[in-house]
Amino acid sequence: EHPIYGEITGPIIMIGFGSIGRGTLPLIERHFKFDMSRLVVIDPREDIADYLQSRNIQHIRAHLTKENYKDVMKPLVKGVEGQGFCVNLSVDASSVELMKLCRKYGMLYIDTVVEPWPGFYFDTDADNSARTNYTLRETMLKEKAKRPGGTTAVSTCGANPGMVSWFVKQALVNLAHDTGLEFEEPAADDREGWARLMQTLGVKGVHIAERDTQRAKEPKPFNTFWNTWSVEGFIAEGMQPAELGWGSHEKWMPKNAKKQKKGRKAAIFLDQPGATTRVRTWCPTLGAQYGLLVTHNEAISISDYFTVRDKRGNIDFRPTCHYAYHPCNDAVLSLYEMFGNGGNAQPVQHVLTEDELIDGSDELGVLLYGHEKNAYWYGSRLTLEEARKLAPNQNATGLQVSSAVLSGMVWALENPQAGIVEADEVDYRRCLNIQRRYLGAVEGHYTDWTPLDGRPGLFPDDIDKDDAWQFRNILVR
Ligand code: NAD
Repeated sequence: EHPIYGEITGPIIMIGFGSIGRGTLPLIERHFKFDMSRLVVIDPREDIADYLQSRNIQHIRAHLTKENYKDVMKPLVKGVEGQGFCVNLSVDASSVELMKLCRKYGMLYIDTVVEPWPGFYFDTDADNSARTNYTLRETMLKEKAKRPGGTTAVSTCGANPGMVSWFVKQALVNLAHDTGLEFEEPAADDREGWARLMQTLGVKGVHIAERDTQRAKEPKPFNTFWNTWSVEGFIAEGMQPAELGWGSHEKWMPKNAKKQKKGRKAAIFLDQPGATTRVRTWCPTLGAQYGLLVTHNEAISISDYFTVRDKRGNIDFRPTCHYAYHPCNDAVLSLYEMFGNGGNAQPVQHVLTEDELIDGSDELGVLLYGHEKNAYWYGSRLTLEEARKLAPNQNATGLQVSSAVLSGMVWALENPQAGIVEADEVDYRRCLNIQRRYLGAVEGHYTDWTPLDGRPGLFPDDIDKDDAWQFRNILVR
């Protein structure tokens, strides 16, 4: 019933066994052949110890730090028999340092975020440009440029960042068919071909448009932060500056927008927290909605990947790309309380498990806008109920992430010498093919909604009536 996609001949090291780690393990067990006695979990948490012990899983109770990670990791990575796999699902261990170490000793590696060591996100001495995902991604790109090729490390391969990059390609192919474009699908490694296809289709930008409608059985008590995935991770990214890939069609920029001075310059950031920055967007079930423009790696990588340059290297085309996230209602309320209280996080932070939730779904897709058919949402509409049936230990949000990790791992096993890659660079067909069984309905929906709908209303509104898909119209001000 569950296909085995390959064999992991060395140890499996799972760093972090939180909501995503716990959901990923059953998928690893289902879909790979490996020696369970060589699986190790590194996580300081007490409350997972009994479970791991009951399953005879080695548990190293350590919090990896800049100071100790080599001591802890080296014996697990260096000189081991077979080729191992490091699955990093922690929140504050440096992704680049860990992938460097793994690659040095020939161990495959995957993560879902470019995470820094602690201190980065809330560094009051750093300027906001230094606290961006742009800066974090540049550290990964620097390592990629310094040591090209070699053992595969898949960077930022969860749902988003990760799976949504595969959705963008599928959405482009669907849009090309639906608009009658005569085209040949670009090869998996033909970045330029994909960028040109997006340009030819007239796509101006992409929202990672997500609506999480999962509801808890009990109402959220005061002084708690509830979410359907890492609260720590969400607060950290929500307190980073709002950040977006900046498209070539944009005619207006917010006053507090800042350009990056170094690197590939595909993104800008706003001098305000992402979790208080609202944008107008659209998802199939509930239609028009506010989303939060929280910074994410994919906003930058997608804009970068789909950039078309002329012979002189000048930008011919680049899409705007950003996250437009409506988290579950409990998380919206949690954020409201947190920011109202001077940005001080609640003392109780909790990830809602599948059994604490009653219903709802995570509708996570890409909204490609500005083309001949206006806007097209393509993505997964996974319900909690389906998630429960499909795999243990996770809610709908978690399963979208853990199944993307599974796809990335399969791709790495099949391409073990690809060097450091982002989700944009791997074969989207293969990955979606593996993942689809865990995504519920994967569908495309056209809409005639635009961010100008119902505007101007009763109050003065600064809008661009000539081009609905300007960021000026999308940003809520
Ligand atoms: P979580 O907070 O539920 O769990 C994180 C676990 O990692 C905890 O058990 C914690 O003790 C452990 N941990 C933290 N720092 C560690 C360190 N330095 N060494 C060892 N263990 C450490 O988080 P989660 O919801 O499981 O998310 C895990 C990661 O996945 C986060 O980085 C999160 O941002 C990311 N994520 C990515 C996506 C995506 O779609 N790309 C989606 C959800 C979560």
